[in-house]
Amino acid sequence: MKTRTARTTAALDAARRRTGVGILFGSVTLYCNTSDSPAREVEIHVKELVRLLTAELYCPACRRLLTLHLVETREERHVADEPAARLNVIDQLYERQHPGEATPLAALFSVSLDDLIARVLVDGARA
Ligand SMILES: [Zn+2]
Repeated sequence: MKTRTARTTAALDAARRRTGVGILFGSVTLYCNTSDSPAREVEIHVKELVRLLTAELYCPACRRLLTLHLVETREERHVADEPAARLNVIDQLYERQHPGEATPLAALFSVSLDDLIARVLVDGARA
């Protein structure tokens, strides 16, 4: 059975390989599982110039070993963030046009990027 640190090492090494240059530019998300710690999640934005990031990462609040959740390269993070950003903008536009109403799922998932840009430009012209 792999230790927590061995799993983190393997995930960091895998991400380094995915970058194609052997070093990590991206982010590492970890959890603090200590029940008495005020921290829940720790996110590190990594810019390795040489291989520096260790797998032994400790909680800044309670100083206990963190549990790895996710390692993403910068490109993977960008791909993952884009849909969330798009949904956030659609939700804000819908709220402005329908105050107090929840955004229907159909509105969230039926808008192309070009259509969304057009809507933002129209909304900005009204403001
Ligand atoms: Zn902690």
